[in-house]
Amino acid sequence: MTSAFSTVSPIDGSALPDVAATPIGEIDELVAKARLAQRAWADKSVADRIAALVPARDRVLDRAEAIAKKIHDEVGKPEVEALLGEVLPSADVFNYWSESIEELLEQREIDLDKLSYPGKHGVIHREARGVVVVIMPWNFPFALPLRTIVPALLAGNAVVFKPSEVSPRCGALVAEIFDKLLPEGVFTIVQGGGDAGAALCSADVDLVVFTGSVASGRKVARACAEKLVPCSLELGGKDAAIVLADANLERAANGIVWGAMMNAGQNCAAIERVYVEASVAKELTEKIVAATKALRAEDVGPLTTSAQRAIVARHVSGAKKGGAEVLVGGGEDDVESPYRATSDEKGYAYAPTVVAVADDESDLMREETFGPVVPIATVASADDAVKRANASKYGLTASVWTKSAKRGEEIAKRLRAGVVTINNHSFTGAIPAAPWSGHGETGYGITNSALALEALTRPRFVLVDRSRGKKELWWYPYTPALRTIALAMAVLRSGTAGLFAKVGAFFRLLGGFSKRWK
Ligand code: NAD
Repeated sequence: MTSAFSTVSPIDGSALPDVAATPIGEIDELVAKARLAQRAWADKSVADRIAALVPARDRVLDRAEAIAKKIHDEVGKPEVEALLGEVLPSADVFNYWSESIEELLEQREIDLDKLSYPGKHGVIHREARGVVVVIMPWNFPFALPLRTIVPALLAGNAVVFKPSEVSPRCGALVAEIFDKLLPEGVFTIVQGGGDAGAALCSADVDLVVFTGSVASGRKVARACAEKLVPCSLELGGKDAAIVLADANLERAANGIVWGAMMNAGQNCAAIERVYVEASVAKELTEKIVAATKALRAEDVGPLTTSAQRAIVARHVSGAKKGGAEVLVGGGEDDVESPYRATSDEKGYAYAPTVVAVADDESDLMREETFGPVVPIATVASADDAVKRANASKYGLTASVWTKSAKRGEEIAKRLRAGVVTINNHSFTGAIPAAPWSGHGETGYGITNSALALEALTRPRFVLVDRSRGKKELWWYPYTPALRTIALAMAVLRSGTAGLFAKVGAFFRLLGGFSKRWK
């Protein structure tokens, strides 16, 4: 039987340890157990839940080296990148939520007009959503799941987590972080492929938090719509970097190369399009090419799957056929390159590549490439750059490179993106207090920040009425006096009625009241 899971190392083709799949037939039962456990978990105080999770944060830090090595072995990411991008930010996630969750979940009283609502007192409580399914991709296999799992648990939910079939061993690392810290059923891992994900979406759950491709995201949205279960979707990206003529070109080139090549470009927020103003296009391109040539194999790992390498190669060769010029990389000619893509049968390396493009017609400029490729297009003006950046069906993050913070901020307001960074790119996903979201086919999920709690919790409004009257004004019977009162109130609340009309309405109101309560 073929495995649902990745079986070979993307680095050298060696065998990876076996993983046991969760039988699909057991998923409903696991979810039922989670539901049972959730009630008792939600009844605990927030302080108790925080205390239960603190050791998990320490495990992340104490096992930093081992976690980074396992991530490297399974998905090919350089170990230092795993430390900086997966381990340390995950500890920050625990810290941020442990420090803020109590206040964020605090009940809040609403203002009620004493005249209209006498004796009434209303409070908004935030309660856990219930059983939350977390379905994740392979590109940040440790940090991404934790960004949702930690606040979901602290808010009182039970979590059922399904890692990608490409990174099940990293998924198991996440589960080990919580091992024996939580009551049984509060955190459950389900190992499997798309069929396991689909089974989870059709199970008796309260929310699906999904990160992955647009194609799978649509399936998740359909399945959730069928059951009227909410889902949060964080999908693909095609981020643009806009370089203005006044930019610090050295910084822009270095930042763009990092923003495009980090994680071998397998980042939803990788720079996949550069729009540079014509007067500095040549100089910026030269600097980007030089910085790319200086990259070493230990800086940029291989692609994680052969399918991903095939997409990258197809996008680059398609753009070439359409007239684009490969300035460095491309994976074909350089026999000396440590990244040779075509002759290396074992690993999935692809040479960091820079391409000069004339238009946005190719797949390289329209579809998500998810590889170490920087396409550069020259534009006549910043307006032109904004127009082309916004023309994508995606809208995750974008960056503007300029010495003028004011101009950068003005352009940021016009960009169709969930995150805009000025003179930097994409790293804000590691800041737990900063919301991460998108437009269009990037989906409508929000990760990180207090705003993420909107999906992970639901409001319950409780109103206590201490009035002693036999009836409310608006209860039966509907008499002419009640009609008079309603019409008088409309005049009194109107912004356009004059003083004379309001005085008249006031007296009609008093008359109405005296008849109504007679
Ligand atoms: P994918 O869609 O192939 O898989 C993602 C997850 O969905 C996996 O766990 C998979 O098993 C599961 N799945 C597949 N079919 C399913 C179904 N019918 N029902 C439920 N679950 C199903 O995506 P991938 O290749 O693992 O990830 C790469 C994609 O993720 C890229 O498009 C990338 O941009 C995106 N991504 C987005 C963000 C973001 O924040 N917007 C972050 C990281 C990755």
